[in-house]
Amino acid sequence: MNKQTVRDVDVKGKRVLVRVDFNVPLKDGTVTDDTRIRAALPTLEHLLQQGAALILCSHLGRPKGKVAPEYRMDPVGVRLQELLGRPVRKLDDCVGPEVETTIAAIQPGDVVLLENTRFHAEETANDLNFAKQLAGLADIFVNDAFGAAHRAHASTEGVAHYLPAVAGFLMEKELEFLGRATENPEHPYVAILGGAKVSDKIAVIENLLRQCDRLIIGGGMANTFFRAMGFDTGDSLVEEDAVATAKTLLEAAGSQIVLPVDVVIADRFDNDANLKVVAPNAVPAGWRILDVGPKTIATFESALSDARTVVWNGPLGVFEMPNFAKGTFAVADLLANLDAVTVIGGGDSAAAVAQAGLADRMTHVSTGGGASLEFLEGKVLPGVAALQDK
Ligand code: ADP
Ligand code: MG
Repeated sequence: MNKQTVRDVDVKGKRVLVRVDFNVPLKDGTVTDDTRIRAALPTLEHLLQQGAALILCSHLGRPKGKVAPEYRMDPVGVRLQELLGRPVRKLDDCVGPEVETTIAAIQPGDVVLLENTRFHAEETANDLNFAKQLAGLADIFVNDAFGAAHRAHASTEGVAHYLPAVAGFLMEKELEFLGRATENPEHPYVAILGGAKVSDKIAVIENLLRQCDRLIIGGGMANTFFRAMGFDTGDSLVEEDAVATAKTLLEAAGSQIVLPVDVVIADRFDNDANLKVVAPNAVPAGWRILDVGPKTIATFESALSDARTVVWNGPLGVFEMPNFAKGTFAVADLLANLDAVTVIGGGDSAAAVAQAGLADRMTHVSTGGGASLEFLEGKVLPGVAALQDK
């Protein structure tokens, strides 16, 4: 990691603006999953211990540049206060004279939570004047919002132009593990891609093919490759627009791409549908592929057996339905038992690994869905690029 972190700056007596990813799910005015708040605690506790006063900011949902009461940060402030065990003062805006007056009086150990940055259209527009106003509240900027680092917004990128800007611990951990897997991986390096769509991930496939020794493809994405091979896929999810691209990728990659050799098909998109296991070129009309089959799991196992590095993005079946979760959970289990660096990216993949109870057995489960995908595409994330080099 070539970026400065909170370890590289002296924050004693300073006001520190921390961009966190508190974009958490809410229901009836309470936080239903506080994982992202917990993930920021090491950075916040470190800064407080070092004698800083904290000004926290985040976006929440998509209020589209206007004040939307259902996206106020109050429930987040309540939960954060419980988790930190010290008072959190939540303000009703993130910039402006009232905020400035309050911030001018804060002391080391104080924690202030600003209102949702996306209540201002200037946030997503990365308006420099708005970024300057945010920066004006503090002496140092810490970015710990890896999940928002792929967006060049005022609170993730713009603000870093006006303050010394360093990474928090969560950001550091994400960059270190995703970087270890993608920049200088120990070989054999095996990538696993699944999920619903090819089109979302063409750039990821292309980039991974340049780096990895084997690319395992499963999930809905595999169907488009089956079509490229001339198979009928019945009512399976297929992206006709991406069939030609899939064909080109197959021709270029040859045996580097590992596809399912059998699939679980269903006569309806329903957990209680009738099921069959067939070869991918034997899907009858009216049936659809919803998981990989047992022979495929064995094939994937041998493709993974000697791996030293594994990156996985995208479930291998419709894991939300128990009857089509076997492939996904089997691969999670294989990874948990490998002697390799295992990195999971993608929101649904992280959820699947958590559901399998195996998150602790992976080297790293990324907290950033979109951000981890862009990282795997080989892109430089704007929120990271803006931080100071070591
Ligand atoms: P991630 O969030 O990990 O990047 P994606 O969002 O790309 O993953 O894909 C996850 C979705 O893909 C899940 O909702 C899952 O049900 C769906 N999926 C996986 N396999 C299939 C399939 N064979 N047919 C339809 N949908 C699938
Ligand atoms: Mg997803």
